[in-house]
Amino acid sequence: MIPYARQSVDEDDIRAVAEVLRSDWLTTGPVVPAFEEAVARFAGIAHGVAVSSGTAALHAMCHVLGLRPGDEVLVPAITFAATANAVLYAGGTPVFVDVDPDTLLMDPADLARKATPRAKAAIAVDYAGQPCDYDALAAVCRERGIALLADACHSLGATDKGRPVGTLAAMTALSFHPVKHIATGEGGMILVGDAETAKRLRRFRSHGIDADARERERLGSWHYAMVELGYNYRISDINCALGLSQLAKLPAFLARRRQIAAIYDAAFAAAPDVSPLAVRAGVAHAYHLYVVRLGADVDRGAVFTALRAAGVGTNVHYIPVHLHPYYRERLGTGPGLCPVAEAAYARILSLPMFPALTDAQAGQVAAAATAAARTCHG
Ligand SMILES: *Cc1c(COP(=O)(O)O)cnc(C)c1O
Repeated sequence: MIPYARQSVDEDDIRAVAEVLRSDWLTTGPVVPAFEEAVARFAGIAHGVAVSSGTAALHAMCHVLGLRPGDEVLVPAITFAATANAVLYAGGTPVFVDVDPDTLLMDPADLARKATPRAKAAIAVDYAGQPCDYDALAAVCRERGIALLADACHSLGATDKGRPVGTLAAMTALSFHPVKHIATGEGGMILVGDAETAKRLRRFRSHGIDADARERERLGSWHYAMVELGYNYRISDINCALGLSQLAKLPAFLARRRQIAAIYDAAFAAAPDVSPLAVRAGVAHAYHLYVVRLGADVDRGAVFTALRAAGVGTNVHYIPVHLHPYYRERLGTGPGLCPVAEAAYARILSLPMFPALTDAQAGQVAAAATAAARTCHG
């Protein structure tokens, strides 16, 4: 079975992790800041704050917004539930914004429509691995006086007009879950240009205990001060050793993902029932996912089943968040709120995309998907 995603871990990675296990540090030692600095340097931004997951990164970003009950944060309807959940963790209310029909990225026009006077921020999601139109989103956010944040869990290594992900929003969340571009097991990071915000994120990561007090403690004082309610969202040196080793291979991983996308693009150019999502002009796509839209009269469920039978694992990213039972009950959301997202959801399928996928396998997937779409008319 070809999975839809899979990590690439080699002997170098294993050696790097083993080295940490022989060192004095298991959790926060020298490798955590080394990994933070390396990712921040890669993205061309001043600070990286590593945390225990992408979800923790999103929670930390929302925390430093200082949300009060009733404050709203705009999120796209098509994303992983964690984007919206983080707003709730931080005491705000997510408001769902519809997506562009061609790219499934947050639609700046719907952002302008949905941003009420209670809006404090928007979290753009670089769905599938291409940056949103941050220029257009930022124009809306500037006009409304709200912060623009990025959920870039799909897009590490992507650029927009040469500007890297990590520099396109005030704060950017990354995930290092094994299906993402580089793996730490579980892990995440916030990229941020502002030193004071980075300090607040670090404090939140470790119980709300002031880092200066920790520094004093290290210098021989027992005193420390917990100044706000934080969490234990720390990541370990073990995880970061894997991440640092993986980061060295990120350019090769990205290049391979782009090659696979080119194979799929060429195969589907003449397949009327299998249409890749559009790529925005000026974007270097990071292809966390390769998402196709099936023809209107194709039975998506039947294609999913036929591909499984043909040894091809696929997935659907995502069920629009506002349609989940929890959100329907808690916020009264439901069908009709984001019609473009809802219509797109019914027809999308994510095909296998990971660096170790061979040309032959990509060809096999493309042929199987084309055949399944031709035969599975509902
Ligand atoms: C993976 C992902 C997350 C959550 O990351 P974890 O590391 O799994 O917590 C959040 N948002 C999006 C868009 C993701 O793809």
